[in-house]
Amino acid sequence: MTRVYNFSAGPAVLPEPVLERAREDMLDWNGTGMSVMEMSHRGKAFVSIANQAEQDLRDLLQIPANYKVLFLQGGATGQFAAIPMNLLRGKTRVDYVNTGAWSKKAIAEAKKYADVNVVATAADSHFTTIPAFDGWQRGSDAAYLHYTPNETIGGVEFHWIPESGDVPLVADMSSNILSGPLDVSRFGLIYAGAQKNIGPAGLTLVIVRDDLLGGAMASTPSIFDYQVQAEAESMSNTPPTYAWYLAGLVFQWLKEIGGLKVMDEINRRKAEKLYKAIDNSAFYTNPVDVAARSRMNVPFTLADPELDGLFLKEAEQAGLTTLKGHRSVGGMRASIYNAMPEAGVDALVEFMVDFEQRKA
Ligand SMILES: *Cc1c(COP(=O)(O)O)cnc(C)c1O
Repeated sequence: MTRVYNFSAGPAVLPEPVLERAREDMLDWNGTGMSVMEMSHRGKAFVSIANQAEQDLRDLLQIPANYKVLFLQGGATGQFAAIPMNLLRGKTRVDYVNTGAWSKKAIAEAKKYADVNVVATAADSHFTTIPAFDGWQRGSDAAYLHYTPNETIGGVEFHWIPESGDVPLVADMSSNILSGPLDVSRFGLIYAGAQKNIGPAGLTLVIVRDDLLGGAMASTPSIFDYQVQAEAESMSNTPPTYAWYLAGLVFQWLKEIGGLKVMDEINRRKAEKLYKAIDNSAFYTNPVDVAARSRMNVPFTLADPELDGLFLKEAEQAGLTTLKGHRSVGGMRASIYNAMPEAGVDALVEFMVDFEQRKA
């Protein structure tokens, strides 16, 4: 068996101890004689797994008691629709910030339900910056303010939280949740597809403040109605049980390594090493404003794009995989989520230096 350093943007690398634990549990979870995949979601064993996962997540993020944690399906994309359906609550207008590809998708979906005011866009910089907060054109009667703290494709990340006042702040944290400590109380709602920084695909996390529940549009599918799901403890229908269990193992792993402060420090070091390698070279370029660079997704281009194919091929041979950039951006992208070991970044940097020496 050979494990590679997998820089995939998602589904993405998982912590090796988590996969090993899942393998140990595969045929017989904790003396039950069955796999977690084979259990009733309403049985004692799975309910204990589900509750432990929620408690560990609450501990990690210090989620206040007046927030519900929902373990849903439908991906972050499902939430693009569920958010306006649940949070409009009689209003018609919503505020969105456009910082790139995922913002745009969220905006397009919200337009089916609401009158979307784009408060700011980074289009002028080709989505390599974050528009300064003092220039945001906020609407006067917005039901909420939505933004994308980390643009997975463009590699642009907010390193600050917008001040939304009385208007609930809604954040798509699909690609940077749990990458460091977070003040959940600043948000009305946080959501994330699991397959980047939480666990396997199929699970979607929603952390939502109590007072925002109960006002869903009448036409909201009940599986997307936060109030219904909160009352049913995310089991209004069969939840993605195995993904939930695996997310729980990831939360335990995060606790074991020392929690989100420690994770934050490791992520800072990993990102610094990679950006330094890019900035110290005339051969590699990252286009993003230094103040807005993502710690999770690092796009970069080669001085000679003709070498892209060779770079990817040789990287693959060196055990560094899935570095091809998103089709809309080209070049390379290294996703260095929580589960990417620092040694993986070291190996990538070493390869980049060597490749440049041979090819530049
Ligand atoms: C991957 C991603 C999505 C889409 O997630 P799905 O689970 O595939 O719907 C949305 N937003 C961001 C920021 C992402 O990284």
